[in-house]
Amino acid sequence: MPLAPLRLVRTMAMLSAGAALLSVSGAAAKADEAVDVIIRGGTIYDGSEGAPFVGDVAIRGDRIVHVGAPGGFTAPRIVDAKGMIVAPGFVDPHTHADGFLRSPDKVVRVNAAWLNQGVSTVMIGVDGSGTPDVAADAAKLEASGIGTNVVSFVGFAPVRQRVLGQDARAPDAAELDRMKALVAKGMCEGAVGLSTGLFYAPQSFATTGEVVAVAREAAIRGGLYDTHQRDESSYSIGLLGSVQEVIDIGRQAGMPVHFAHLKALGVDVHGQAGAVIAAIEKARAEGVDVTADQYPWLASGSNLDASLLPRWAVDGGGKALLKRLDDAATLTKIRDEMAENLRRRGGSGALLLISEGYPWTGQTLEQVAAEWKLDSRDAALRIIRQSVEAKARGASGGGTGIASFNMAQADVDLLMQQPWMVTASDGSDGHPRMFATFPEKYVRYVRERRVIDLGTFIRQSTGRTADIYKLDRRGYLRAGYFADVLVFDPEGYAPRADYVRPRELSVGVEKLFVNGRLAVDGGHATGVAAGRALLRPRPPGCDAQP
Ligand SMILES: [Zn+2]
Repeated sequence: MPLAPLRLVRTMAMLSAGAALLSVSGAAAKADEAVDVIIRGGTIYDGSEGAPFVGDVAIRGDRIVHVGAPGGFTAPRIVDAKGMIVAPGFVDPHTHADGFLRSPDKVVRVNAAWLNQGVSTVMIGVDGSGTPDVAADAAKLEASGIGTNVVSFVGFAPVRQRVLGQDARAPDAAELDRMKALVAKGMCEGAVGLSTGLFYAPQSFATTGEVVAVAREAAIRGGLYDTHQRDESSYSIGLLGSVQEVIDIGRQAGMPVHFAHLKALGVDVHGQAGAVIAAIEKARAEGVDVTADQYPWLASGSNLDASLLPRWAVDGGGKALLKRLDDAATLTKIRDEMAENLRRRGGSGALLLISEGYPWTGQTLEQVAAEWKLDSRDAALRIIRQSVEAKARGASGGGTGIASFNMAQADVDLLMQQPWMVTASDGSDGHPRMFATFPEKYVRYVRERRVIDLGTFIRQSTGRTADIYKLDRRGYLRAGYFADVLVFDPEGYAPRADYVRPRELSVGVEKLFVNGRLAVDGGHATGVAAGRALLRPRPPGCDAQP
């Protein structure tokens, strides 16, 4: 219910006004303090559980110097925020924003897809993808000029690939030591934690014990475990078995664990959100720090390979896959398992092909198969094959991206209402979640369907997220904190992207300051690249590290 606690707002405003009178009379001789910006008279949600209140936010340099009662400051720039919501810049803990942030084009690096949603900080290296060379990567990003702050994970995929390649086997003792050293390196260089994507090969080849061994290196350095879990559906150990594995990893490694894009994926597990919540609540009661994020869409984004192929078929990488596809008996086995994976995901009509720039872009797998007069499995294999062959030629591959309509509304709603849930976009190409997650959640789930209220929406996008990742002086509007400050119009803030047009910029952000600099003005990115790489200070346990 947006703006429901109106009476509270008014009470708080009167209290604030009283406080202002006191402070003015107490310092009558003192001149107004000079600052750079005053955001005046907005309804302030400061990122905490506290009630909103009407007041001012003052910014000097890259810091917030005042949040609360009006008066006491002068500034060359005054933002009239009457009728607007003033909040911390949003924090998106699970993104694939790399494509923008690493672009050779400085206009693209501004990261407008996120800025236009009010997001000032994005996390990268998720799903196990983050490089262990965190410091060098962060320095390069920041020096290139980026529009949002970035937070980095060290990822399990490069760690395992550098030591074991694509192989489906366990590491020996020396190999495990090398993997552990890479995780330690990433943590010592400023990563926020270890990310994994145990659903994806070759990470899927790791046992729980192997994951615990490497995760401990992050644990002893204050990091958290952030995971695209092994099974969100009924592929291998099942959703509930997979949730339990994550909890066990947290317990055994002695660290907080966080579920990325938590969901019940596919017809076999629809309705299991309640059981997932019960398992998480039980673990939390037992002292395991468990949290999660979620995006407000009923379709997930993935690719045909990961969604439809059995994992054994990709053991050894692309070349090995092509060999198996060329063997008639093995192909039959692969097609049999693909039939089951298609059923689990609701059939080929529920898979929308979204990689941009291909002849099949925007069609469902069912439509493409009909056009090619092929069984949908063979149509999928044709697309997968061209991607593998392109990669083998040194091209980037691709074309296999899908939006997979596989979630039940009731599960999404129930998960959203949990006190340990935060918002993340999982933004990646072709899916509207990249350009529209935060306003989509606000419009559909706060305003229209009232699944959560406005205060919860903001809390899930700011302070709670900052707490989970222990971000230093971010996620709250407080004096002394970094000036990532969002002003949005509660009537106009809205998504424009959808599944058909996924790259439409969102609207309704009146102002967004990133580190005190104006990054969005009147709904448009200013071109200012004020983002920083937010590296953790060097943790204990890094003495042996260079
Ligand atoms: Zn993921």
